[in-house]
Amino acid sequence: MLSIKNLQANIGDKQILKGLNLEVKAGEVHAIMGPNGSGKSTLASVLAGREDYEVTGGEVLFYGKDLLELSPEERAREGIFLAFQYPIEIPGVSTTNFLKTAVNEVRKARGQEPLDAVQFLTRMKEKMKLVEINQALLSRSLNEGFSGGEKKRNEIFQMAMLEPKLAILDETDSGLDIDALRIVAEGVNKLRTKDNATVVVTHYQRLLDYIIPDFVHVLYQGRIVKSGPKELALELEEKGYDWIKDEVSA
Ligand code: ADP
Ligand code: MG
Ligand code: MG
Repeated sequence: MLSIKNLQANIGDKQILKGLNLEVKAGEVHAIMGPNGSGKSTLASVLAGREDYEVTGGEVLFYGKDLLELSPEERAREGIFLAFQYPIEIPGVSTTNFLKTAVNEVRKARGQEPLDAVQFLTRMKEKMKLVEINQALLSRSLNEGFSGGEKKRNEIFQMAMLEPKLAILDETDSGLDIDALRIVAEGVNKLRTKDNATVVVTHYQRLLDYIIPDFVHVLYQGRIVKSGPKELALELEEKGYDWIKDEVSA
C-alpha cells in the first residue's frame, strides 16, 4: 500500500529525514517511535504534504502512485487520512456539515455516488455508536473550544466517517491525557480491517498499551534504525533509547 524509499527531507537548510525506508501493507498497524527530535513529526508532515517541508530525495508510493506529486487534498481523496489535517477551528461550521462535504468529495474521487441525506445520517449513527461520540459535540463548531479529549474523539470520528485506506496519526505529547490516548487507541482498534492500514507516530510508549501494532519502528536521526514486533515497544519502555543509540553509533 505505502512504500517509502530513501526519503530525505529538509526544514529550511536543515536535513531532518536522512534516507528513511518503510513498507506498509493493507491490514497492518505500524507504530513509529523514537527519541524527541528524531524526525517523527517531520515524517508525518511530509506524508501529509505540509508546505514547510522540502523533500530532497527518495520516493513515496501509495498503491504505486507518486504521493509526493499530490496536493494534501488529492492525498485525502486517494484515501489517506491525516488526523492533523483538520485541527483547525471553523466557527459556524459543525463537524456534521464539514463531514458531509468531505465524505462526498472522497466518494466522488472514487467514482461513487454521493450519499444522500438519509444515507449520510445512517452512516453518522453507525459511526457515532462505534466511536462513542455524542450529537452535542458534532453540532458544535468544528474544534472550537474543544478539550484535548473532545478533539481526539472528533478526529477518530472523522476517520470513521471517511473510511480511509491509510490513516496516519501523529500523537504529539502536547496536552494529551491518558483518556484522550485511550480514545485514539480504541478508535484505531475498532476501525481496523484487513483492507486498511494505520501508521501511528507516537511520543508515548503508553499508547501502545492500548494499540497492538504489528510492527514497531524506531526512528532515530532521520532514519528507521530498528524494526520489530510489538514486543519491541515493551523493550523500549523498559530500557529507553540509549541502547539503540549505542547500536547505531557502533
Ligand atoms: P519528533 O517528532 O521526532 O520529536 P520532529 O520531526 O518534530 O521530531 O523534529 C525533528 C528535528 O527538526 C528536530 O531537531 C527539530 O528541532 C527540528 N525542527 C522541527 N520543526 C522545525 C522548524 N519549523 N524549523 C527548524 N527546525 C525544526
Ligand atoms: Mg518532538
Ligand atoms: Mg513530533
